[in-house]
Amino acid sequence: MCEFCTKHGEGKKWYENIANYTEEVFHQVNSEKHLKAYLDNFYHSLTVDVQRAYTWKKRLPRIYHLFVYPLVTKHLKKTHFGQIVPIEDIENILNNFTSIVRLPCICRKVTTGENKRYCFGIGMDLTPIFKDIPDISDFDRLSIQEAKDYIRHLDVEGQTHSVWTFNTPFIAALCNCDRDCMAYRFQLKMEIGKVIWKGEYVASIDPLQCNGCKECLKRCYFGAITYDRRNVKCSVKLTNCYGCGICRPVCKNNAISLLDRNSIPQVAHDW
Ligand code: SF4
Ligand code: SF4
Ligand code: SF4
Repeated sequence: MCEFCTKHGEGKKWYENIANYTEEVFHQVNSEKHLKAYLDNFYHSLTVDVQRAYTWKKRLPRIYHLFVYPLVTKHLKKTHFGQIVPIEDIENILNNFTSIVRLPCICRKVTTGENKRYCFGIGMDLTPIFKDIPDISDFDRLSIQEAKDYIRHLDVEGQTHSVWTFNTPFIAALCNCDRDCMAYRFQLKMEIGKVIWKGEYVASIDPLQCNGCKECLKRCYFGAITYDRRNVKCSVKLTNCYGCGICRPVCKNNAISLLDRNSIPQVAHDW
């Protein structure tokens, strides 16, 4: 289990501890006024602040890597970070609620200008805050079955799923992301700080089932699948795998499964 499970899981995975979605935990770590101000500034933060950090990183790469990167990561761990969660665990989380709010995705607004609706507000009812934030005020409410159907569809489409804190350990968002996600770009392209943590799983490919079609390799955003030309097989580079599981729907041979990260010593402590 990751450090968040140890600190906030009460014996379970931390995102399966439903207390972390409640008003009680929210009030322990956050306030309506603070969250409203944070969300109001979110678009600006994803554009201006991220660009500023990237400029400094390019100007002073060594200093940034040694001193600034760890500070940024520490700050994000405390305030706003995400962890990759596969579809099965997402559905287990959803089973605890009666409805969920679908929001416009701010990242896509920044990166593509498109108005996609891949973001969800989950748990505590924050709609009184959302309705006052222009970037997300156009939300709609879905039943849990509607949300499951929609997120399953996004899984097949190739969106990774994740849960997000708004002052840890309070979880308020469930996101569905691809390479247009600002968090993905922030962490894997710009390398400004760590904001997405690997999931509790890693993928495994059964070589007996694999025919080397490479569909999974094309699907993986994290460069975790490699192709062996001699054997005409794909395999998983465990240290790159985030355990999102979105390589599975494209495998017509059902050759890919997810294993518990803790059961693989090589990556058991690699988050
Ligand atoms: S984290 Fe994903 S779903 Fe959430 S706003 Fe960013 S791209 Fe959209
Ligand atoms: S999609 Fe399945 S069959 Fe194709 S290369 Fe990947 S694991 Fe092998
Ligand atoms: S190999 Fe790992 S990171 Fe890549 S798509 Fe599959 S589960 Fe996700």
